[in-house]
Amino acid sequence: MQAEQDDSKSEPEPASGGIHPLFASEDGDVVLGSKDRVLFRVHSYTLKTTSGWFRAMYSLPQRGSSVVDIPAETIYVDEDAATLEGLLRMVCGLPIPRLDSYDVIEPILHAAEKYDMPGPMSIVRALVVTQPLIDEPLRLYAIACRYGWQDEAMMASRYTLTLNLHAPEHRATLQKLSTEALLNLFQLHHVRRETLRKRLNDPPFVNDAGDTSCSHCGTLVDYHTWRELKYVIIMEMDNRPLGDTVCNPGLLEWPAARACWNAKCHNCDRVLYDKTLTMRVIRECIEQLPTTIEWV
Ligand SMILES: [Zn+2]
Repeated sequence: MQAEQDDSKSEPEPASGGIHPLFASEDGDVVLGSKDRVLFRVHSYTLKTTSGWFRAMYSLPQRGSSVVDIPAETIYVDEDAATLEGLLRMVCGLPIPRLDSYDVIEPILHAAEKYDMPGPMSIVRALVVTQPLIDEPLRLYAIACRYGWQDEAMMASRYTLTLNLHAPEHRATLQKLSTEALLNLFQLHHVRRETLRKRLNDPPFVNDAGDTSCSHCGTLVDYHTWRELKYVIIMEMDNRPLGDTVCNPGLLEWPAARACWNAKCHNCDRVLYDKTLTMRVIRECIEQLPTTIEWV
């Protein structure tokens, strides 16, 4: 068997009812039919050695009656031609299809799991942490959790920190997660925000616990500018839990930040807040926040 091209998308679509040109060898002793009625002639030996499902089927005294159609050697399956082609390319040692979108890999993974085909599963797993798949970390996280891929799930959870999970566009993907996977992800995002929020109430920062006085002249001061800046910081952590935008441009350019750095004691006219120290402590806190879900 030989693949003429490695780019499956450039090949003509095999006609419904016809045999796929890559899987037309006369040597094949079994024909698989896709849902859209494209036929793939392959070797039963290949199926038996790469698929636990086919191995079990062939070990039955009679061919599995529910999947064997007429004629006897043609087995119709639920997958469409593109998915079946992808799977068979992988188990037959042909150039693999382009695995560059979730719409391609999700049905392949589903079929690989169903037919107990570890080979295709491992190929897709190796590729999910590459672009462009990694550019959709929430979908990657969903798949990694679904198939129990710990390293990939933890990596994907880190990449989700640029996302606001509460945004409506993520709802459909989040609905695919198991409850545990969903809670783990929300926990990560929540802990980052809450840890920073609590830190902003500890020294050297002023808080609501008591009166605050000017560090230079001792006069009681109104620190509402800091309270407002804290609020903006926490809102930003909700929006983008990675926190990178808090330090830059946030603390440099936000109006609330400028107001804070410009605030002065009404008695001695000195600035109330140490911009350099504040920025350093906030940056250090963000750098120490957990970056991945905990995988238990
Ligand atoms: Zn003062």
